[in-house]
Amino acid sequence: RKLGYAVVGLGNYATNQIMPRLKECEHARLVALVSGTPAKLERYGAEYGIPTTHRYSYRDYDRIRDNPDIDIVYVVLPNSMHAEYSIRAAQAGKHVMCEKPMAISVVECEAMIAACRKAGKKLMIGYRSRFEPYNRLAIELARGGHVGPTRLITTAHGFNIRPDQWRLDRPLSGGGSLMDIGIYSLNAARYLTGEEPVEVSAIESTDRADPRFRTVEDRIDFLLRFPSGVIANCVSSYSSGHNDYRVIGGEGFIHMEPATAYSGHRMWIRKGGEPRQRELPTPAKNQFVAQLDHLPECIRSGAEPIASGDEGLKDLRVIEAIYRSAREGRTVKLGG
Ligand code: NAD
Repeated sequence: RKLGYAVVGLGNYATNQIMPRLKECEHARLVALVSGTPAKLERYGAEYGIPTTHRYSYRDYDRIRDNPDIDIVYVVLPNSMHAEYSIRAAQAGKHVMCEKPMAISVVECEAMIAACRKAGKKLMIGYRSRFEPYNRLAIELARGGHVGPTRLITTAHGFNIRPDQWRLDRPLSGGGSLMDIGIYSLNAARYLTGEEPVEVSAIESTDRADPRFRTVEDRIDFLLRFPSGVIANCVSSYSSGHNDYRVIGGEGFIHMEPATAYSGHRMWIRKGGEPRQRELPTPAKNQFVAQLDHLPECIRSGAEPIASGDEGLKDLRVIEAIYRSAREGRTVKLGG
């Protein structure tokens, strides 16, 4: 049978991206909804054919324990709620898919990993780009030295954020652009190299007179030094639009723009001569469906998910170091 997902938090991403894609899954289906808004439970419950017995408020969330149709809980809540709802899901005997950023601190990530381990349940983070064909090819080419050994990665992620939302409220978001969109620059630098940074240096630029940025940062630029010598030069912004990366090797480059969007990925490779665009066939499963099917496959096979809790934790370790570097105005060493 297909494994059953309960989606927690019926906001934009859950209702516009995740729930429609669950219909296309080979190994998964939507079986339950959790929301604090009765009207949303009514609307989406009717739309997706979810019976009232499988609709939960946050108050009766822990009752998911008694519902054998729910195998996996997908946490799509504001960042500061990820840890609590993931841990309670594991304690209710469910596997966990949690959105990025995994949580708002290393301590929370470690608690999530420990809770899932104790319950004997899998934990996966919603790093959908790991399941997107152009990114998978970029990883293969970059790590395989297709344009020579990687020397430099440049990557920028950002958008001009509209005011009045939880993303701009630190207690809910845990931070600004870095937690939300700059994490794509960080995650890409890590997956393109397959290495963990050993040194971080960051500067923050935020106009605190802009009412959007009373409690969180706008722009944060950071350099990551990897053990092989690769430097990643990364941008994270809440006031300008970016979605790209470039892997530069001794013999050319791999360029992606957009690199981590929902669709429309474009890749150029330059290896001597002019850059050539590389086009891939449309995959049988788009990145969302492939991500949603991956966890059930891992549950069945016993394999560790590609985007495991450990991956989420590693990003948060670097994020904490980036913030520390910007705050203290110095390079921060990692690892060891
Ligand atoms: P959203 O604001 O549209 O949805 C958040 C949901 O949480 C809403 O339904 C809201 O009602 C609910 N909620 C419960 N308690 C809340 C509280 N105290 N304050 C505010 N909202 C509360 O946000 P979103 O864009 O759907 O983001 C949700 C999560 O998904 C975030 O962690 C975000 O980083 C992640 N996300 C991931 C991707 C991706 O591509 N992987 C894309 C967008 C969002």
